[in-house]
Amino acid sequence: MFLSKLKFKRLSTISLLGISTLYFAQKKIDPEQANEDNLKRHVYYLASDELQGRLTGSEGETKAANYLSAEFKKLGLKPYEGKSFIQDFEYNVKLNPHDDKTSTTVKGKNVVAVLNNKAEKTIVIGAHYDHLGLNEHHNSTLVNSEGQIHNGADDNASGTAAVLELARMFSQNKTKENVNYVFALFSGEEDGLMGSKKLAETIKTNYPNTIFMINMDMVGRLNSNKDLTVGGVGTSPILADLVKKYKPEGINLGLDESGVGPSDHTSFYLKDIPVLFLFTGTHNDYHKPTDDSDKINYPGQKIITNYVFNLANALGNEKEIPFTKTKVAATKAVPKYKVSLGIMPNYADSKDGMGIDGVIDNRPAANAGILQGDVLTKIGKCEVKEVYSYMDCLAKVNAGEEHPVTVKRNGEEKVFNVKF
Ligand SMILES: [Zn+2]
Repeated sequence: MFLSKLKFKRLSTISLLGISTLYFAQKKIDPEQANEDNLKRHVYYLASDELQGRLTGSEGETKAANYLSAEFKKLGLKPYEGKSFIQDFEYNVKLNPHDDKTSTTVKGKNVVAVLNNKAEKTIVIGAHYDHLGLNEHHNSTLVNSEGQIHNGADDNASGTAAVLELARMFSQNKTKENVNYVFALFSGEEDGLMGSKKLAETIKTNYPNTIFMINMDMVGRLNSNKDLTVGGVGTSPILADLVKKYKPEGINLGLDESGVGPSDHTSFYLKDIPVLFLFTGTHNDYHKPTDDSDKINYPGQKIITNYVFNLANALGNEKEIPFTKTKVAATKAVPKYKVSLGIMPNYADSKDGMGIDGVIDNRPAANAGILQGDVLTKIGKCEVKEVYSYMDCLAKVNAGEEHPVTVKRNGEEKVFNVKF
């Protein structure tokens, strides 16, 4: 079964490359328009079985990083630091989720390029390129999927391809923009935003006047209703109008205020940099081996890439982009909360609790002793099965109340008294 899948993929990549070569020979590419063939070519390569799911620290990650570096080099961009486009970082990961002691060090590689317009201001445009590999780190939503290739076409070859296109568009057009652009392709995202944390820690040393960060994570599944979630709109007062002004025709925007979310923009928001986060929504293949290239909506991805191009241009021309702190809203969804726990929820489908991807310092969950990696099962008597029931449970709590909150940690049930 795997062999036939592999053969099919190889064939389709080859024929795709054939078509695009022909296409390029006949038609000149407009530097200021995203090109669908380019997007497709990047996604098909990054999400091919050859890259084995791009797990941070794996050989597949190195192959992906080499490909991305070569693309940046072709465009004449400069490395962010030193002589190479690679920015190294390290972190620990638990290989056995039921055992706290067996952790191993993972070495990850961000791939970061700069379009240096010798401007005063700098904007970061980013996406993570790592994914789950063969599910070695147990982030899959499919049970017993260890050993299966998680190709991660939507998550997040789609955002990575969009960043490569934007790098091409900004570097090959005739305009010298008023800002420098840092094109950042992160690794270590799936293990907890590790790569973006590293870049966010160094960005103000290298580019003190970094005024903005735009993140794309899962932008390949624009649905027939054309629903696009844009997060971070509360991180500056100018953003709500701006995202509406440049909205492509037919797109239905779902706006989320919060600067904290389940992806890399969070790392920059936490350094007081205003952010935007684009996301076409979760789906049945999310974090499963079936998140494949043939399921991507390439015309939709092109629309979103052009949208980001227009937004990034407009942001570069703004006189000032004041930073504002946002409430820690957990999700894109509508219910109005009177309280928050201060966690980053895992959006995976589940029946037996919601994973906690991150815990924010000095918020109720952290104060009570809840940790990243815990699985939330109850708030008071209200049962949490996944992110939706979590929101329902949270909506019932009033500020100032105290409730027992139940989590599973290493398979064991633990109860914490949380003051909301
Ligand atoms: Zn993911």
